[in-house]
Amino acid sequence: MGERLYRTTGVIIKRIDVGEADRVLTILTPVGKISANARGIRKTASRLAGHLELLSYCQLQLAAGKSRDVVTQSVAIERFEAIQQRLYTMAAGYYVTELTDNFVTDEDTASPALVHLLASLRMLCQPCHIEMVLHWYTLQLSDVAGYRPQLFDCAVCGALLDEQAQRWSITQGGMLCPDCVRADIHANTISLALFKLLRFVQREPLAVVAQTAQPFALHTQAFSLLRQWVVRHSEQPLRSAVFFDDVRRKEYQDYVGE
Ligand SMILES: [Zn+2]
Repeated sequence: MGERLYRTTGVIIKRIDVGEADRVLTILTPVGKISANARGIRKTASRLAGHLELLSYCQLQLAAGKSRDVVTQSVAIERFEAIQQRLYTMAAGYYVTELTDNFVTDEDTASPALVHLLASLRMLCQPCHIEMVLHWYTLQLSDVAGYRPQLFDCAVCGALLDEQAQRWSITQGGMLCPDCVRADIHANTISLALFKLLRFVQREPLAVVAQTAQPFALHTQAFSLLRQWVVRHSEQPLRSAVFFDDVRRKEYQDYVGE
């Protein structure tokens, strides 16, 4: 009685079963990440069931609670069902939700992150290069969270980078020009192909990026570099990467007929 109700929209990015029939949801909304209890959702007669699946974009009514808000009504706006129909896109879905949960920490990052998340989920429902969507989202999210890697200007001196640049420094914040390589003796040497791929993904819109094919091995290098970047800045492990890599390897083997 007298509980304060409010409405919002958001994407379900995490679900944890609690007790007999409840579920705690993490929802990315335009004003922040909220944790809410969906009471009785795992009962077959629940009015909420079917509207609060992982990845669903929902219209929600919540009651503000003392410790945690409670979902009182929900209608799915977009369910992204095509993602659920294939193991590879599902694995990609887990990957983007975990990245989102790890990276979005305050209200300022939530709204732009939601825009990029919805764009990525819509793209994953269409024929596209899944790895490219994940690289794009990783770089967009880094940007939103204030960790945009320097790929066009030297991370140390700000000089315009050309194809001579080979060193990637996590601690300095991106690529180094040949004059600044001593700024980080642990900087990694990366291939020109990887450098070009990262610049392309950071610069171009998703519609272009997602339709561009790249070799399997180059994607593997890009995942390795970008994951080190996000794990360092979010200070959280990216657990879904193991599952994603496993599914990705199998997809590739099926494709080349091994
Ligand atoms: Zn420099």
